[in-house]
Amino acid sequence: MLLCANPRAQYLSHKGAIDAAVLSVFEKGIYIKGEEVTRFEAEFAAYTGVKFGVGVGNGTDALRIALGACGVGAGDEVITVSHTAVATVSAIEQAGATPVFVDIRAEDFVMDVAQVEGAVTSRTRAVVAVHLYGQAVDLEPLLALCKRRGIRLVEDCAQAHGALYGGRRVGSYGDAAAFSFYPTKNLGAIGDGGIVVTNDEAIAHRARLAREYGWATRYVSDVAGGNSRLDEVQAAILRVKLPHLDRDNEKRRRIAEYYREKLGDEGVLLPQERGGVRHVYHLYVVRSPKRDALAEQFKKHDIQAAIHYPMPVHAQPAYAGRIRTAAPLAVTEAVAKDILSLPMYPELTDAEAEHVVAAIRAAR
Ligand SMILES: *Cc1c(COP(=O)(O)O)cnc(C)c1O
Repeated sequence: MLLCANPRAQYLSHKGAIDAAVLSVFEKGIYIKGEEVTRFEAEFAAYTGVKFGVGVGNGTDALRIALGACGVGAGDEVITVSHTAVATVSAIEQAGATPVFVDIRAEDFVMDVAQVEGAVTSRTRAVVAVHLYGQAVDLEPLLALCKRRGIRLVEDCAQAHGALYGGRRVGSYGDAAAFSFYPTKNLGAIGDGGIVVTNDEAIAHRARLAREYGWATRYVSDVAGGNSRLDEVQAAILRVKLPHLDRDNEKRRRIAEYYREKLGDEGVLLPQERGGVRHVYHLYVVRSPKRDALAEQFKKHDIQAAIHYPMPVHAQPAYAGRIRTAAPLAVTEAVAKDILSLPMYPELTDAEAEHVVAAIRAAR
């Protein structure tokens, strides 16, 4: 079956270097908080264009810890979107805060920044901007608003490693940013992993305390904390892959270009790259009024028919009826019914991309 994402193909394309890196960690005998993690934190922070990186156990924890380190907690409201991985909302609630939803824009699936001001109350402490599918939220007006109203900006970059906004990497704009290294992400581990990045030394310090029992010094908890560490094996794998990230993103962009060329007249609405951003196509999501028929054709052609996401967070049983929406979520609800994710990963071959195009043509 042709998969939507294919982390095994990523492993195979770097197999020799990954195997060697993993074995060298096994041999060294330091499995938690050794030099692989320290080096990766510095390398990833430098890549993103920020001063500090704090490796953690996964992307959800990265977001929760970033929010806490920015002073977000009980009684605070955090504005975000409902059209996102549930992890975004889960992290806000785990930080003790209350999520508040605004709608997305039909053009690019990301937060409608124009709605944020109307969602702000005296309790608003932060905005979580989700750079969904690999394209940046419109950060400039959002940053200006956050500064003016004294609100923290935390970027959810779990789908946007390497994406650019105004020539700078996403993750370098907010007070802090969270990345996930879940295996299918643009930079993926072979297991779980995540990182908090920031230019603010105090935020980095608080994130470091939060990831390990509140320790500034070993065995002495300054604050009450938990445990969410990135491990040496995953850091070693990420260090092998990071130097290939830009090239891999370039491959994703070429596949997107191919889809755009071939699918322009096939009755599906294609994703657009806005001016001033560099989309890194974590996912290539099309819209079609005949989405379910399209998904059927995918199945017939042995292609995975993935939907990101079939149900907005505010409609899911765990959240329904209890999350404040600052504006009607009309676009959020409309896209859930007509989106489909095409196969998209750096190792996707030309023949496979052609096969996807054939399946879409067969659905006309
Ligand atoms: C993957 C993802 C996360 C969570 O990452 P995990 O490592 O799976 O915890 C958060 N936000 C978004 C938008 C994601 O896609």
